Amino acid sequence: MSRPSKRILLVEDNVDQLELCISALKEHDPDMEIKSAGDGSSALTLLGESPFDLVILDYSLPGSINGLEVLQQMNEMEMTVPVIMATGQGDERIAVQAMKAGVQDYLVKSRDYHDILIHAIEREITQCQLRWDLEEAHLRTRCLYDILLSVTKEQKLEVMSERLVKGVCKLLGVERCVVILINIEKNEAVFSKQYGFHVDAYRFQGPLDALGCLMDAYVGQNPVVVDEPQKHPLWHKTPWLHALMREMLSVPLAMKGEITGVLTVMNKVKERSFSTEDINLLSTVAVHGGVAFDNAKFLEKIEKQAITDSLTDLYNHLEFHKRIGEELERTRRYGKMFSLLMLDIDHFKLMNDTFGHPVGDGVLKETAKVIRKCIRTCDLAFRYGGEEFAVILPETGLKSAKLTAERIRKEIAWTPLDIPEDDCKRITISIGVSTYPQDADQREDLISAADQALYAAKRDGRDNVKLYSEVLKKVINKEPIALDEYLSDPEMKTLRDIASVVDAKSPYMAGHTEGVLRYAMFFAESLNLQDIEKKNLEFASLLHNIGTVSLPSKLLNKPGPLTPEERKVIHSHPGVAQLLIKQSEQFQQVLPAILYHHERYDGKGYPNGLKGEEIPYLARMLCIVDSYFAMISVRSYRPRMTKAEAIEELRQNAGSQFDPEMVKAFTALLESEDVSSIE
Ligand code: GH3
Ligand code: MG
Ligand code: MG
Repeated sequence: MSRPSKRILLVEDNVDQLELCISALKEHDPDMEIKSAGDGSSALTLLGESPFDLVILDYSLPGSINGLEVLQQMNEMEMTVPVIMATGQGDERIAVQAMKAGVQDYLVKSRDYHDILIHAIEREITQCQLRWDLEEAHLRTRCLYDILLSVTKEQKLEVMSERLVKGVCKLLGVERCVVILINIEKNEAVFSKQYGFHVDAYRFQGPLDALGCLMDAYVGQNPVVVDEPQKHPLWHKTPWLHALMREMLSVPLAMKGEITGVLTVMNKVKERSFSTEDINLLSTVAVHGGVAFDNAKFLEKIEKQAITDSLTDLYNHLEFHKRIGEELERTRRYGKMFSLLMLDIDHFKLMNDTFGHPVGDGVLKETAKVIRKCIRTCDLAFRYGGEEFAVILPETGLKSAKLTAERIRKEIAWTPLDIPEDDCKRITISIGVSTYPQDADQREDLISAADQALYAAKRDGRDNVKLYSEVLKKVINKEPIALDEYLSDPEMKTLRDIASVVDAKSPYMAGHTEGVLRYAMFFAESLNLQDIEKKNLEFASLLHNIGTVSLPSKLLNKPGPLTPEERKVIHSHPGVAQLLIKQSEQFQQVLPAILYHHERYDGKGYPNGLKGEEIPYLARMLCIVDSYFAMISVRSYRPRMTKAEAIEELRQNAGSQFDPEMVKAFTALLESEDVSSIE
């Protein structure tokens, strides 16, 4: 590394002497850059303006300050430039003073003054150069050390590579640096990190020779210097580089002993070519950088694995809970909205049963691909579990979320599956949508809302999208439901929708309403109820838990016993049901059965503590059926009972909790053979 030219300041008032000196120096070294000053103060001005390598200072100068005083002022200004002092008389006293003031040499203007001066200058410049080289080497070592330390210490690939390219630019004094990683299987080269470029990233896919001289170090597996890129045989292939590159140094980047990229620098800031030292320094960085890249990539891979579902390559369940929490926080902070989709493949069990699990796995992969294709890059897709997926749509309201959900649903329904011996098999998917903050403002409730909408979509024949707000708005807002209009529907689709959504509040309640309905109708048949009574019991069975929609999911799913306060909240649900349906005239006859199905025969039930036959007939029936079905199902606070245990439990509580006559009839029915048709 050499400096461009030596800059010398000659402070000399004698013009003839000055000219002689200049021509002698120029003759010796034509590259020398010489400035002159005729007095002390103009010398100080020049020194303040730009740096010099050496000052030749005459002792006797015109004006108010002599050479010694110039020297003293330079010291005060902490100028470290070496000074040679020249004087007409060989005065020892002046020489001592000058030496004390820090001059490098003291010359007397004798007859061979010019030769002596040239030698003195040579000596000074050589020493200066040595000092300068030493300083430079020290700086480089420091810089190299910093790069190596930060790349080996930093574990995040992004931060590490950023530091590497920036550090290399400083170390080698270049305008640009880029790490290019090569994926030979994909025939792809990616600008993994760069510094000094105007664009963010280049990505090339195709024959690598399209990258011209940038691939030389990769192909030759050795450092390459290109001083005149325009003469490179492949220069025409990289017109985008023409404005960027003047000269280039590129070294191979090896990871795990295999060359997988190049580390390239372009355009020296001062000089116009790369030295052997530059090549060695860059190669050193590349060796350590390669190892650091390897480690960072490995760590990144491990981190990615921990949050990714290996089958579908989507984020996994754990990551879902983390991300939805973060999204909720962010959205809340900025006062925005976001939507959540819960997706579940329809009749997937059938697909597994028909074609086998490996085909099922293939379908899950395909589904994940379609989901990814249908969403924006800022959206997040997850495998929630089994054949269930979730999508978080940041800053997305209800309408756009519905459009996205519909797009996914249609795309899945249209995508032919790669199933052997069945070349046009297709699957469908059901999707539930909830939106923050309008549907819920807590994470669990938002998930539960999308889940409930998903159940409604399933109920409604599958292959469709349901918005939580559409299905349940009225119920949730505790507005009376205009149920009358649904009565004309012989299948009672809407009532069943509501029931399934109510059940979906808790995983323990899945299928509860349908189960209670089945047993209740069976019981009604055996008791020979009138048709109108049967119809009322049917409605009551479907709606008996409707009041729980306003209860927090956490409470419904709480493992272990409830506190008195929590019990109070749970006991409010018949009252809520009454609120919800009281304005519906036709439901007036149904209401008592719903309102009182938690009353006890001994008067210790809720909400009103009615006793014995004060409790409406249908409510007493519903109480037994509801309790029996709960006994034979798992609950958060206890395991499932066997049928015999449940019958025994009913009998134990006949007369206290239940109507004893009804228990007799119901348990007899349960022990008859007819019951097998509904179990
Ligand atoms: P529905 O329309 O009501 O959602 O019916 P379904 O059959 O899709 O739902 P169900 O919950 O009854 O069945 C889900 C099936 O998904 C059962 C299980 O074997 C299958 N499954 C879950 N995880 C995987 C998996 O990783 N691979 C495969 N092949 N099947 C899976
Ligand atoms: Mg499922
Ligand atoms: Mg399913």
